[in-house]
This record gives sequence, structure tokens and C-alpha cells, in this order.
Amino acid sequence: MTPVTHRARWVMVEPGHWVENGRVVVMGNRILDVQSGTPKATEGSVIDHGDGILMPSLVNAHTHITLSDAARNQSSEGFLKWVESLIKNRNSQSSEDALKTVQRGIATLKASGTALVGEFGPHIPVADAFEGAGLAATIWIECLGNDRELQPLPPNAKGICHAFAGHAPHTTSPVLLKRVQKANERLKQRFSFHLAESREELEFIQTGKGAWADFMTRMGIDFSGWESLGKRPVQMALDTKLLDQNTIAVHLLEINKKEMAALAETGAHICLCPRSNWMLHEKLPDIEGFLKAGIQPALGTDSLASAPTLSLFDEMRFIRNHYPALSPDVILRMGTVNGAKALGYPDLGTLRPGNHSTMIYLDVDVKSPKEAAETIVSANHLDLDPIFDDMQNGGPHAF
Ligand SMILES: [Zn+2]
Repeated sequence: MTPVTHRARWVMVEPGHWVENGRVVVMGNRILDVQSGTPKATEGSVIDHGDGILMPSLVNAHTHITLSDAARNQSSEGFLKWVESLIKNRNSQSSEDALKTVQRGIATLKASGTALVGEFGPHIPVADAFEGAGLAATIWIECLGNDRELQPLPPNAKGICHAFAGHAPHTTSPVLLKRVQKANERLKQRFSFHLAESREELEFIQTGKGAWADFMTRMGIDFSGWESLGKRPVQMALDTKLLDQNTIAVHLLEINKKEMAALAETGAHICLCPRSNWMLHEKLPDIEGFLKAGIQPALGTDSLASAPTLSLFDEMRFIRNHYPALSPDVILRMGTVNGAKALGYPDLGTLRPGNHSTMIYLDVDVKSPKEAAETIVSANHLDLDPIFDDMQNGGPHAF
């Protein structure tokens, strides 16, 4: 095997770490070295991408690509109507249509430079579609309702890990959430669930009443024995020890400063999906608050049922526009290294030696690292060329 060297005017090893006139030396699917200057004879053939930027591939830590064909409805119709339309859509989709939807979703993710995905959903046909697609992924099977035995998962392969997810405290009994968390501990996989996403969830978990309680009754889900009721959702998750360093909590719109500080103490990871939150709830997560509390958020698009695209570049641009106090480097960390850490894939998210050689070339004309970082998170259009490896031998190593 001989090395291949990728050259560009700018190489972003990770946010804040740039190499000018840089080259990334790759052997197989691993980065051997990142250097500045003229390639050495030992570095194999050179692919000169141009005067733009080579950067790490992006990490979409929370999506549901099986919902890619579910029509987005207007936020004025409310969260409950949105959930009802999703259920209708899911029940009417054939397995052939579902497979095509997932394949289209994977192609879209790849075209937008995403190399690692946290996918929530039913695992058939998702697992088959991911296999051999060149993306790394943790595929979580969503569990909801009252307690039950968990079905066995397919074996992990080529960067694809299978795990169980709890859906959310307002849909999943506390006993089932704990069962799922324990099963993931045994599987050495991350446990993830939606937490504190909506006012409807907050009201239901605090009081056991309200529009969500009525909806659950209509759906035939008996929550009378749920011991989780009576607290705020994050406090409930803290008290029942659902949050630890192997957990990824998603959304966290309804969280106060005291709960943020307690969440930080647990070492739990979080994933935020601001465009989805804005569409469904007209509310944005308190990113500055999380950072001040010492939590480094990962980023997800959520599904096309609540976000306009699956592109993390679009998600980062939305953050740049709505959080002017956040630096481009902080936003870039959310879209790359934070997501890789949250999902437990330390060999993705940066171009450090030893890591996977998956990366993105951006054809842009910039004069400095500062301008480069700003362009990545704010340009309305980016010409991008994703460079994938085969993800062979990928997978989580953080446990
Ligand atoms: Zn979600």
C-alpha cells in the first residue's frame, strides 16, 4: 500500500487549528500526517485540490432519515398535530418506500459532507441501507410506550453500531427508559433520548395532565403507573440517573440554569437541533448557557419532517445567523468534534493523524483562517467535494 497526499491552500485539522499550504497524507483509510509545504517523495501521489479548504467531515448527531418523506406542516398547527401527522405518515409507508426514503436520505447526507450520523428510528430498512454506504452511524431503535422486552439487535459492522433509544419522557415509561439504558450499558453503546423538547412535555411530566395526557389516552397508552410524573423533565432524568457520560440527551429547550449545572456534573452529552426547534416550537436552545455551564453541544438536523434540509452546513449557518455572540470556531466544533465525541467515535471529527481520512474540500477563496472559519459557517452557498474512505474498521472506541 502506498500513501496518497491531499493538498490545499488551507487545511483545518480541527476548529482553531489551521495549516496553510497544507497537505494531508493518507494511508489506506487513515491519516498519517498533516504538514505544511512541498510534499516529500515518500508521500505518494499528490491530489492538489486547489486554493480552498480541506476540513473534517461533519457529524449529524441526531436525525430520523426514515421520516424524510413526511411533509413538514406549519408550526401554527402545533406540536400535537405535527406528531399525529407523523404517525399517519409512518403507518402508510410501505417497506419498499421506506428503503428508498432512507437511501435518498443517506445520499443527501453524503453530498452535504456528513460522515457520521446518529439515526433514530425503526432499524429495518435503515440498517440494510447504511451497510456499505460509506458512512459511520449509530442506529438507535426508538422504544416508546410501557415496559416490554427488547428485541435483539443486528450485529455491528463497518462503523455501523446498533443500540436502543428511549423516545422521550412524555412517550416512554420510566421503567422502559431504564431498561433501555441498562441494555445499552451491556452493549457498550451510547444511550440517547429526546429530553425537555416541548411545553407539552413539560406540562405532562410536571402534572400528568394537559393536551399531551389527553393524546396519550386517545392513543391507548396507560401512564397511570408512571413514577416520572410530578417533576420537571430534566430534574426527573437527573433523579432517575438517566444522564451519565454514556448518554446523549437531545433538544433540551425546557431547561433552567440550575438543571444545566446539574447536567454538566453528570458528564452527559447533549445534541441540539435549533432549526427543528424553531419550526416546531418557535424557541431556540440556550447554546451560550450550555457552554457557560461547561457542556459542549453536538449538533443534529433532526428529520426533514421538522427541518428544511439534512445539511449540517445549513444548520451551522442558521446558528451563525441566530447566535451572533458565538464564534465560528465554537459553531464548527458543534458540527464536527463535539458530535464525534458525543457519539463515541474519536477517530472522526478532526483531521488528526491516526483518524479516518474522510474529509471535505471546499472550493472557496479566502485569505486567512479567520476568514475561512467565517466562510464555512456563513456562506449561503458552498461548492463542496466530500472525500470519503470506506469506514472499514471504524466504530466507537471511547468506552
Ligand atoms: Zn428527534
